[in-house]
Amino acid sequence: MKKREKSQNFVGQHLKLFRCPICQSPMEAINGNSLVCEQNHSIDFNKHGFLYFLQRAVETEYDQSMLSARRNLLTAGLFQPIVEQLAQQLPKKSQMILDVGCGEGTPLVSLERLRQDQDTAIGFDISKDGINLATQLLSNAFFCVADLRKLPFMNQSFDAVIEIFSPSDYGEFNRVLKPGGTLLKVIPNAEYLVELRRLLYPSGEHAKYDNTNVIELFKKHYPQTTVQTIKYQFQVPANLTAAIVKMTPLHWGKNARELTETQLTQLKTVTVDVTLLSAENS
Ligand SMILES: [Zn+2]
Repeated sequence: MKKREKSQNFVGQHLKLFRCPICQSPMEAINGNSLVCEQNHSIDFNKHGFLYFLQRAVETEYDQSMLSARRNLLTAGLFQPIVEQLAQQLPKKSQMILDVGCGEGTPLVSLERLRQDQDTAIGFDISKDGINLATQLLSNAFFCVADLRKLPFMNQSFDAVIEIFSPSDYGEFNRVLKPGGTLLKVIPNAEYLVELRRLLYPSGEHAKYDNTNVIELFKKHYPQTTVQTIKYQFQVPANLTAAIVKMTPLHWGKNARELTETQLTQLKTVTVDVTLLSAENS
C-alpha cells in the first residue's frame, strides 16, 4: 500500500481523534487528498503521505545527518532498555498511545513490537525530516508533523502519552489524555552520555546535566509521580562511534572539540542514564 493511502486509511478509521489546528473544531471528512474540519479548513496529505498540522514552517536544528545518526544508533538498540520499561509500565490491555516529539520514530515502532502490535499508536514531531524518516519504517503507527503546544487531537482521546527527551505542555497532555490515562516522561540524568561530554568539553563545561527543575515541575502537576532510574552501559558498534557525536546537540556548543579518530575509539561504551517519570491523569 502506498504511504499516502495507508495514512488516509488510518485517519479515516480514527477521524474522531483529530481536531482542526486552526479553529479547534472536529475534523469532519477526508475529501480527496485533504482532511477537512467542520468549518471547512483543510489540511493536505503531503507528497510523502503525512499530515502537516503546523500553521507555518518551523526550522529545527535536527538536520538529516543528525536524524540518520539517531536512526542508526536507535536501530542498534541504544534506547531499547528504556523502551522495554515503557512497554511494561503501560497497562496490559490495548492502548491508544501518543508519542510526543517522536523524532525519527524508532522508539515508538519498537514499543509497538514489544507490545505485539496490540495498540493504536500516533507519533508526532515538529521536524518534518524526522516524520519523513518515521513514515518509512515498517509499522502500523501513524506519524504526523504537529506542535506539542497545539495538539491537533480532540479532548480525552488517548490512554497514554509518552515522551522521550521532549519538552512538555502538561495542559495539552491533560486535555488529550482520558481520565485515568498514563503519562510517561523520560529525561536524561547527569551521567547520560557522560563519556561524550568529557571528550567534547575537557574544560568541564556541559560535563553534567541537571534535571532537578524538570522533575520538580512534573511533580507539581502530578503529585503521585513514580520516579525510576534506568541506567546501563551501551556497547557502541564500531562503525557508529562518529554517529554518537552527531546524534546529540552536545557537539554544537561553541567550545566543543572536534574529535580525532583516536578519541572516537574512547566512545566504544557509553552510559545511558535517564529518569522515567510516570503518573496518572486525574
Ligand atoms: Zn477549522
